[in-house]
Amino acid sequence: MKTFSATEFRKQFPILQTVSDSDNIIYFDNAATSQKPVAVINALHDFYLNNNANVHRASHFLSAKATKSYEVVRAKVQSLIKAKFENEIIWTKGTTESINLVAQSYGLNFIKAEDEIVISMGEHHANIVPWQHVAQQTGAKLIILPLDDNGIIDLSEAERLITAKCKLVAVNHISNVIGKINPVKQLITLAQKYSAKTLIDGAQAVAHIAVDVQELDCDFYVFSAHKMYGPTGVGVLYGKQALLESMPPYQFGGEMIKKVSFTGTTYNELPHRFEAGTPNIAGVVGLGTCLDIFIEKPILPMIDYEQQLCHYLYQQLSKIEQVQFLVKGCPDIPVFSFTFSGFHHQDVASHLDSKGIAVRAGHHCAMPLLEGLGLDGSIRVSLAAYNTFNEVDVLVKQLQALCLGES
Ligand code: PLP
Repeated sequence: MKTFSATEFRKQFPILQTVSDSDNIIYFDNAATSQKPVAVINALHDFYLNNNANVHRASHFLSAKATKSYEVVRAKVQSLIKAKFENEIIWTKGTTESINLVAQSYGLNFIKAEDEIVISMGEHHANIVPWQHVAQQTGAKLIILPLDDNGIIDLSEAERLITAKCKLVAVNHISNVIGKINPVKQLITLAQKYSAKTLIDGAQAVAHIAVDVQELDCDFYVFSAHKMYGPTGVGVLYGKQALLESMPPYQFGGEMIKKVSFTGTTYNELPHRFEAGTPNIAGVVGLGTCLDIFIEKPILPMIDYEQQLCHYLYQQLSKIEQVQFLVKGCPDIPVFSFTFSGFHHQDVASHLDSKGIAVRAGHHCAMPLLEGLGLDGSIRVSLAAYNTFNEVDVLVKQLQALCLGES
């Protein structure tokens, strides 16, 4: 098995060498967005410097080059998530747009009054608000699956709450607050019992675990490039081919058409029928470069390293009396949320920031989850494969200093 060196990996991220006050930055806000390797930054630069042209349009050399470097990335994503067909990969702006696409195109057209849409208590707002809108527009009912004490979707409750009325189950693979892997395979099987469709929000999963959409057998899987070392403004909607073909377009304009006439317009084939307008070409090319990390480089040793970091941080945080985790047990990926007795979450984040440690404080775009836990916010520390044991020690030292009133 190939080995993974965090030290070598880290060297690929120029921003981590940035000096804040006297020390390098310790970036522990990776669940919000990860940093970008120099290869991705160079790919964006190189695209605009040497290859810039619109895709699929003009019949000239540069356009052909841009189209090739753009389209080749679709096959890389197909390979990453093990989709059956390349045209099942649709480019979007991010997870949020991917979910909105499904909500607008599938939800508003296939979900009817009295149907049920099932989500969970632990969803990001991006996987709540689009379904609230569909429910309001169609008269469907939104059903909320509770979490158990460990912070994962309670399967016995799911068995009770997913019924013949359910048309769609839309849940996260891993919560951006709790960092635990949900039993999505079991939930998908449960939904299939009633012929309900399934959408899995993989925004926090793709950078940390191996994903196989055929094995999961989900209908839709969505994620963002920027949380997996790629550029912002690029996301993926995976959908089963036949289902995508049965859905009406989401936006209308150039690229998504086959023929436009005032007597009637025909739409393009997959995947272009869902990709109206000029896409984020440079961003997709940048994502392609970043996917080489996951496809060609040793992903399993990288996951293994993250697991070691995750357990170490859990152990160290558990020793601090003031740290109160939101749920029981060590997270499955290094995403930790906790409150800190005697201190407001924002004050803890500000203290850490003053020491060059970037964490997030607040509701993490999961207000219903925090509210359900009786909290108005928490501190979230989220790690990536370029973080180190030494950085964890610095964080722990600074939290201890805060307890002792040292600044
Ligand atoms: N879903 C989850 C679980 C997330 O963590 C996030 C972002 O934090 C999103 C959805 C939204 O992703 P984006 O802002 O990239 O569209």
